Parts: sequence; C-alpha cells; structure tokens
Amino acid sequence: MRHISLFALALAAFLLQACYTVPVTGRSAFIMTSVEEEKALGLEAYNVYKTNEVILTDYAINNRIKTIGQRIAKIAEQDTPGMEWDWEFTVFNDNETANAWCLPGGKVAVYTGILPYAKNDAQLATVMAHEIGHAVARHGVERMGTETMVGVLGSVIGSSVSEANADAVLAAYGVGSSLFVTLPFSRDDEYEADQIGMNFMARAGYDPNEAIKFWENFMASGGSSVPEMLSTHPSDANRIAKLKTYLPDNEALYKKAVGK
Ligand SMILES: [Zn+2]
Repeated sequence: MRHISLFALALAAFLLQACYTVPVTGRSAFIMTSVEEEKALGLEAYNVYKTNEVILTDYAINNRIKTIGQRIAKIAEQDTPGMEWDWEFTVFNDNETANAWCLPGGKVAVYTGILPYAKNDAQLATVMAHEIGHAVARHGVERMGTETMVGVLGSVIGSSVSEANADAVLAAYGVGSSLFVTLPFSRDDEYEADQIGMNFMARAGYDPNEAIKFWENFMASGGSSVPEMLSTHPSDANRIAKLKTYLPDNEALYKKAVGK
C-alpha cells in the first residue's frame, strides 16, 4: 500500500513538473524537456545557422530588428518567470527567404526576404512577436516528443555539432530545411502563436491592427512564388477571422501601453 502511494506521489510530482502553462492563452501543455535542455538545443541550432548563413552587416536594419525585438522580449519575460531568456537577434542576408524564427532561449533570426512585406515597425513586430510566441509556448519541444528529444540530445551531448542536429531542432520549430523533413507547426500552434503575438505586440506599444494588415498582405502576396514562411504557416480566412476576434482586448492593451 505504502509503495503504491509513494509511486502515485512521485508520478504526480513528475506530471506536475511536465505541465507547462502557456502564457496569454493559459493552455496546459505537457512537456517532457527541461528548459535547460531546450535552451541547449536552441543555442546549438542557432550557432550552426549563424555559421552557414550570411549575416547582414547593415547597421540600420540590424538596429531596427534589435529594437523591435527587445521591446517584444521585455513583454515575453514578464509572462515567463524562470525561463531565463538569453535574447539574440540576427538578420540573415537572404532576399529569397521570406522567413523568421525564434529558437528556445530567445535566439531570433529574421531573413531580409521578409522585410519588404512588413510595411512599418508594427508589422515587423507582428512577425517577431508571432515567432517569439511559438518559443514562449514551447511548441517545438512539445511537438518533438520524448523519443526525438532523447535522440537529438544524445547527439548534442556526444558533442557532434552537426547540421543534422540543428535541422532537427529547426524543423521542430517550423523552419524549413533541405537536410531534414520539415514538420510544419500544427494549425492550433499557429493560432496560439498569433494570439500570443498580438498580445505581446500590443503590450509593447505596437498597434495590433497592423497585425491584421500584415497577415492579409503577406497571404495575398502568395501566387507563383509562395514565401517560405507561408509554406510552413498555414493560411486561411479563419486565421484572419480569429485574429480579428482578439482585436478589442488587444486594442485596450495597446492604448494602455502608449498612454492613450
Ligand atoms: Zn508560426
């Protein structure tokens, strides 16, 4: 009897530890990976990509991305005590890639190819807050599951810094790659990142109406050359409709943030 209750207690403690409450939406996520392990994977993947991509040196653009990113990051931190973010913002000089992502630990990448789609700072904040939303919700590790994590972690700990490892992490975070099969974020993940993103941008003082404008514009721009971000981010009218339902609350948060 005693053994059973001890086991039940240990199990309960374990399950409680694995239960993560997603900021903004309040959803309970079951995550087997510790924040430390998750951050190690994020850093590993980020370093590989920083080595392989061309980093933009243009000061003005880098400064703009960093300034917007840090405003969003400050809000993300308020909602994620214990996550110990180590923010880094890198712009990759790749006009063919209309993409952005954020890895665990706050390792953000923006490709120059997405810049023409963001008509102002609030629209750029839309992109960054959405990606930071995925990281804050810990979608990657939630989706990777235990088996993959154990495999990838084993390789990381085995110190074989390889592109395959980085790709596994990036794939889990919805980043396309030629070396690894890309598992796009689920539709629910996208809705959740949209919801978190709009909340974060509004609280950071960016007009949430610009989020609707950005996604409408970005989705409409598809056609023959579908931006990479769209191929991993499902587009549909429902998405815009959902975003619009978040507007009233977020407009209030925005007005509060800018003191209107
Ligand atoms: Zn997304």
